[in-house]
Amino acid sequence: MELDTSLEELSWIPRPRILALRRLALETVGDLLTHYPRRHEDRREFRGFPREETIVPVCLCGEVAKTRLMRFGGRKIFEAVLEESGAHALSQPLTCRWFNLHYIQKMIATGQRLVVFGRVKRKGPRLLIDHPEFEVIEDDEEILIHFRRITPIYPATEGLSQRVLRGLIFRLLEQVSVASAEVPLPASLSNGEDENALRKIHFPENDEQLRKVRDHLVLGEFFRMQMQIASARAQNSARIGCRHPSRGLLAEQFIAALPFVFTSAQQRVLNEVKHDLQVASPMNRLLQGDVGSGKTVVAIAAMLLAVESGSQAALMAPTQILAEQHYAVLRSWLDPLGIRIGLRTGARQEDNAPMSLFADTESEFLGSAGCQPAVSGSLPDTNASGITEPRYHHRRLPHFERPWAKYAIRFSTRNRRSLSERARDVVLESIRRWDGRRYELFAACVMPDHVHLLIEPMVERQNESGNSIFFSLSKILQSIKSFTANRINKIEKVNEPVWESESFDRMIRSESDLQEKFEYITRNPWDAGIAKPTDDYPWVWYPASRQEEFAAGCRERQAGSLRSPAEQAGNENAPHIIVGTHALLYEGVNFTHLGLAVIDEQHKFGVAQRAKLTSREPAPDVLVMTATPIPRTLTMTIYGDLEISTIDEMPRGRGEIITHLLTGDQLGEAITFLREQLSDGRQAYIVYPLIDESEKLEAKAAAKEFETWQERLRPFRCELLHGRIASPDKQSIMQRFRAGETQALISTTVIEVGVDIPNATVMLIENAERFGLSQLHQLRGRIGRGAHTSHCWLVTSDKSVETMTKLAVLEKTTNGFEIAEADWELRGPGDLLGTAQSGLPELKLGDLRRDAALMRKARQAALELLENDPGLNGPENQRFRDLIVERQGQTFSHVS
Ligand code: ADP
Ligand code: MG
Repeated sequence: MELDTSLEELSWIPRPRILALRRLALETVGDLLTHYPRRHEDRREFRGFPREETIVPVCLCGEVAKTRLMRFGGRKIFEAVLEESGAHALSQPLTCRWFNLHYIQKMIATGQRLVVFGRVKRKGPRLLIDHPEFEVIEDDEEILIHFRRITPIYPATEGLSQRVLRGLIFRLLEQVSVASAEVPLPASLSNGEDENALRKIHFPENDEQLRKVRDHLVLGEFFRMQMQIASARAQNSARIGCRHPSRGLLAEQFIAALPFVFTSAQQRVLNEVKHDLQVASPMNRLLQGDVGSGKTVVAIAAMLLAVESGSQAALMAPTQILAEQHYAVLRSWLDPLGIRIGLRTGARQEDNAPMSLFADTESEFLGSAGCQPAVSGSLPDTNASGITEPRYHHRRLPHFERPWAKYAIRFSTRNRRSLSERARDVVLESIRRWDGRRYELFAACVMPDHVHLLIEPMVERQNESGNSIFFSLSKILQSIKSFTANRINKIEKVNEPVWESESFDRMIRSESDLQEKFEYITRNPWDAGIAKPTDDYPWVWYPASRQEEFAAGCRERQAGSLRSPAEQAGNENAPHIIVGTHALLYEGVNFTHLGLAVIDEQHKFGVAQRAKLTSREPAPDVLVMTATPIPRTLTMTIYGDLEISTIDEMPRGRGEIITHLLTGDQLGEAITFLREQLSDGRQAYIVYPLIDESEKLEAKAAAKEFETWQERLRPFRCELLHGRIASPDKQSIMQRFRAGETQALISTTVIEVGVDIPNATVMLIENAERFGLSQLHQLRGRIGRGAHTSHCWLVTSDKSVETMTKLAVLEKTTNGFEIAEADWELRGPGDLLGTAQSGLPELKLGDLRRDAALMRKARQAALELLENDPGLNGPENQRFRDLIVERQGQTFSHVS
């Protein structure tokens, strides 16, 4: 029996168990054996019953002396009183209680022996455990598996009891010959526990063995991960890149003209980048630095190095506001040097020089895309077509559908039936078939077992009173489903249901929402690991303007050709530097000779987007910047394929930021202070969180908040900024604030990233408890940018310990790395990683935080191994080859 043997082949596992296991995605022997215990219980000897409360959960064994069922109003409480075996006068019984779990009373009866696990509480004279985990000791031969040993406890599973699961794994372990981990480890990582490691992790003989074998298996997981990262790194440096040698005159000129000198950290990082630009293999570097540490100027200097060597550079920012800001900053500094800069965002395309490069492509788009919003270069969005335009008509609708609304829709195949390639063709064709007739299609993606759509239903007809009636979502979906189901069954010569009857739909509420969904859908196959970063996935579709560009990019790549010198000569007015949002990826932006791509605020972009910008030949140098400090262990994994430069020093002369914690009733104090600051000529941000409420409520809440603040701060001028404000208006609001025409900006988190206005020195964050630590740190980074002392007020009415502990971190420190560590400790890595986590192989046992030291060891070993034998050609290294063979869902040459 091998680890990849299917469980179905084992006749002794009953069919219903097989099905239950499959629901947990446990299909093979290996799957089941790596379904690791969540914890172990020492059942070699049970401890005596406690006399007092316990701080930690304890594991006890006793006999059920009596049970009873009580009712309180609608609640049912089932109690079982346990007595210690060999009870004596002093021993206290223990009461176990379950609330509203009727089935428990069928499982427990007087006279049984129970093992229970939970925290003991005292209530009056009684000692209690509420909702303990428990197991009934039956007097069967299997007692040997479940008791009198260190016993594995598995993650709770539906339809499979601990006992059944444990029994299956126990038997399985007796049958497999080599119960060792599948990951080969180099000698430097071995701790002698590789034999029978899987048996030992489930049924260890003692604590020491358990600890060591866990380390061993965790190292296995980490080593596999680091081998993939290391090989991605090696592959990247083997790509064909370009040297960008330059004497650095432009950069020097730029630096000399700055009103400040570079910090030594900035200088060091620039040197690192300069070195990378000069060598032929493509740069793949992460520039890490706290908010306000001065990454942007370093990036500008780097771009000038590329420009001087004769290439183009691109700067990609995650939001319109940021792209505009970069554009303005770049122009003010680089216009005097005669550098041509172009702006390419969804809402605006502008050059500070005559546009020749884009003239042709643009008129072409006008022709082909007609009057669709895409013309303006944006996503098909509300903004370009004008939010203000009164497009609303009355119509009869289910209450959840609205006229002229866009929806993201997802529907799945029945029983996860997998669609063949031909079937996927059929689905995509039929989705497109009704485009422009029943709906406008913005994006579609047919995955093997589900489908994503982004659509705006069209008007079906006018009713008698002249109102527009729209195609309903259910009608639209029904046509797609029934039409495709018929054809697919015909092709595949079966007659089975193809689609699940339900579907999910979500109304798009804002431009950013739309963009997010659009990106999510168009990247889905890559993010899900169905397609490799460099491959095409033919069942993704979006409107022609973008598609042509995408196809052109592919053709160009295939031909492996640069533009001819003649063509290049014709583009002598091309911008040297192009600044933009993700529109850079999709719009008709033709880079003539992209040498350096700088990606700002990396964590906002997905894996596939970075790949898309950088997958051209020859590979451009890439500098990604992030202001989200992450703990070192995480850097080694999620940014493991990048070289790292860190700006760990703040520019001198920065005003201090003082952070105050305020509970709601002290707000008056903050307002008085705020008014003083405003009269001194400073400016303020008032930030409040908006949870995902309905469109109407959200706008209303924002407006109400705004009125209140306007009242509080009168006569100072306030403006309101939130995500639903159309982009051009957003720009002008920011512009007025920057120019000091408005004193206070009442805002949602749209100001989170990168906004740089030195005169704004006060920030008040309402409901601060609703934000994560990192986000608060980011927000706070908007102040403290000038010479004045800045003040951040964190307002909350939640006085719970968690909130106070969290916010106190910010009072204590402004160091982003310390905050990231604290955040990690408080919340675990999940949120911190966000989208970044996609692409990493799954960890079943290892814990990035707890096992940081093991991760370092694994990384070291993997890097060394590949450095000494990059092709893994040595006979002793053959065994590692499987580790870097790209597996589905585990490929990531571009982790973000
Ligand atoms: P980041 O992108 O790292 O958050 P920025 O590059 O936006 O930071 O820099 C923040 C502000 O600090 C900008 O106004 C910038 O001009 C200024 N700055 C950058 N480097 C220095 C320096 N060495 N000394 C003084 N000010 C600096
Ligand atoms: Mg920045």
